Order: sequence, then structure tokens, then C-alpha cells
Amino acid sequence: MSPKHIQRIRRAQKELDPTAIKADFPIFRIKVHGKPLVYLDSAATSQKPKQVIDAIVDYYSKYNANIHRGVYEISEKATEAYEGSREKVANLINARSIEEIVYTRNTTEVINLVALSWGNANIRRGDHILISEMEHHSNLVPWQMLAERSGAVLDYIKLDSANALLDIDSVKAGLEKRPKLVALSHVSNVLGTINDVDEIVRLAHEAGAFILIDGAQSVPHMPVNVSSMDCDFFAFSGHKMLGPAGIGVLYAKRPILEGMEPVLGGGDMIRTVKMHSHTWNDLPWRFEAGTPNIEGGIGLGAAIDYLNRIGMGSIRRHEMHVTKYALETLDGIKGVRVFGTRDMNKRGGVIAFAMDGVHPHDIASIFDSEGIAIRAGQHCAMPLVTQVLKEDAVARISFYIYNSEEDVDEAAKAIEKVKKIFKLS
Ligand code: PMP
Repeated sequence: MSPKHIQRIRRAQKELDPTAIKADFPIFRIKVHGKPLVYLDSAATSQKPKQVIDAIVDYYSKYNANIHRGVYEISEKATEAYEGSREKVANLINARSIEEIVYTRNTTEVINLVALSWGNANIRRGDHILISEMEHHSNLVPWQMLAERSGAVLDYIKLDSANALLDIDSVKAGLEKRPKLVALSHVSNVLGTINDVDEIVRLAHEAGAFILIDGAQSVPHMPVNVSSMDCDFFAFSGHKMLGPAGIGVLYAKRPILEGMEPVLGGGDMIRTVKMHSHTWNDLPWRFEAGTPNIEGGIGLGAAIDYLNRIGMGSIRRHEMHVTKYALETLDGIKGVRVFGTRDMNKRGGVIAFAMDGVHPHDIASIFDSEGIAIRAGQHCAMPLVTQVLKEDAVARISFYIYNSEEDVDEAAKAIEKVKKIFKLS
């Protein structure tokens, strides 16, 4: 066998098998309206494998204790598991050290933390903040609030109308205003667009801006390397990547975190406290006041172990395959309008679509009657849906490791049912 052939076999062996993966997820044993669950809403939150559920049950049943302070065995074990997960997060995204990994509740809290701490200290009246038209509310409203309280100006990178990709000329025009901060999603939760963050980080730095990347829809689905990307801040949520809800991650470059003030004060974030003064703890605990989400950290660690066993590259390849199949299928159904680019190198496993004459909520209800979970609405991206796509709402299908071509076929059948009920040709 030639080395090339061996390489191909090795790669094929590494390909992901969604049927085997599904067996790890207890939820897929339930029935919805008497039918097996087809879950096509992972962009909202992912399902959880038994390995993650077991890790949480294990913590509560075998070593439940508060962390950091205890000198007894089970507290030390809980601390080790919780802090061990931080190490796994740092490795997953290639941060330089655990000092750059701050735990929060979710992506939303990360962005608010950056806006309240770094933003309040650095953004002044007349400064520019540059975001894009495809942002989730969590990467939009905190900047509107910061602009309101500081007198800064919020500018938008436009999308090109043909395929809803970021318009690079608009990026450059925005940067000509020398913004202090650029805040941009890595992957859109509506269009699935993968933004060229490496290039935009480079351009932002050239223009003297700091840059925050919202990775809520990228880290769960593809290899991410924050060090080579060179972003200043990066945000994501555990619950979209097989982990529990209530744990999110802020990555920030160490010198930036060192210069930031905590937003919350209390236990754990201090080193010493006197009657009228205190000193802060080291990074990253300085930003984590009070008892943290211990089960969340432990569950996230188990989720990362699970993802690593499959490999982030395999996950990306699998989702490209299923998404391509879904785009071809949906594009082949008369009356279905799919948004976004068809270039698979520029999109992830999220597909927004609409059908003339049917409200997306009706589409989602009919899907539900077939046991298929999809989402309909504005997907926390009202400016994008109502002002750019100019729709009241859109339906959204999103994929993860447990989805297969069969799930796409089920969705296509449900669309035919929608057409029949609404008497569309
Ligand atoms: N950004 C993007 C791109 C998202 O998809 C989401 C979740 N839908 C968020 C931010 C917010 O995540 P969370 O609700 O976990 O804070």
C-alpha cells in the first residue's frame, strides 16, 4: 500500500459515525409525539452524552464539596476536577496558559464582562466601536449599552446582499474610522457564515483596534486556535458543545486581563481583605467572585474529553458533509428559500430558510408534530433578520455530531407536509 493510501484509510477510520455517537446520548431514546426525536436545534443548545451526565452525577454523588478552600479529600478532588477542566479549555483553543481562561455563566456574560470592565475603562465619548450586521444580541446589546453610557459611536460592517457574507470593503471602511474595538461573530447563528477572522483580526490590529471574537458557534464545531488567530478576547458557551448550561469561557490575552478590573467583588476573587481595602487574587480567579459553577466546569471538562476523542477536524468534516447534503436537498424543494452562501468553506452547520405563504412558527410546529425539533423566529439577531434579510422571522435547522443525512431526509419530508397542509405547489 502506498503511503497516500494508508493516509486515506487512517483518515476514513477517523471519520465520525453519527449512529454510534447517537447511542451515547440518552435523549435519543425518547419519543416525541410517538416518533423518534430528530434534533435539529444544536445552535440553540446541544444535547448531552452520558459521559457528561455521568461526570456531573459522579461529582454530586461522590465528591460534592466547595472548591479552592477545603483541605479535605473530597474538596481537593472537586478543585482538581474543576481546575483540570480549565486546562482542557486552554488546550482546546490553544491558549497560552490557564491564566487566560476566565469562567463565566455563558457567552453573553463574557461579552458583558468585557464591555463593563475593559469597555468602561477604555471607551470614551466619540470613540468608535465596530460590529457587524450579523451579530447575535449578546454581541450587540452590550456594545449599544456601552455606547449609550460612554457617548461612543457604534458602526456596522455590512453584509453583501448576494450571499450574506461580510463585505470586506465595509470592514475596511469601518476600520478607517479607527475604532477602539471590533466585536465580531466567528460563525453566524442564523446564516452559518464563517467569517475570515484571521484576516479581520490582522486588519483590526493594523488599524490600532482591539478585537473580540464571539465563538459561541465555532468552538463546538471546528478547530479553533486563539493564539494563531491573535484575537484579544474570545467568548463561548459550554452548553452548545455538549457541556451543561451555566458555564461560559472568556479567553483574553494575559496582559489585557492584567490591566482589567473585576466587575464583581466577593469571596475567591481576593487575596487579602482589611476593613477598608482589599487586594485581588491572581488571574484568572480575580474575575470569578463567589462559589462558581463547579458542576458546570466538571461537565465542560467531560464534554471536551468527548469532543477530543472524536477530533474537532472530524466534527467539522462531518458537518460540512451533512450541511452540503441539506443545502442540496432544500435547494431542490420548490418554495423553499435558503439564506446564505453555498460555499461550504465559508459556512458551518446552520441553515436558515423561509417558505412564502407560511409563517416560520407554523413550519416549526409541523416539524414538531413529526418529532423534529427546529427553531423559528429572529434567533436573537433581530437587526439581521428584520433589517438585512427583511423577513419577519426565519426557520432554522442546525446540525451537530449526532445528525446524519437521514435527519435531513426527515426534515425534507416534514417540508412536504407543510406544503400539503398549506396547499402550496
Ligand atoms: N453568540 C452567538 C453567535 C450565539 O449563537 C449565541 C447563542 N445562541 C450567543 C452568542 C449567546 O450564547 P449564550 O446564550 O450561551 O450566552
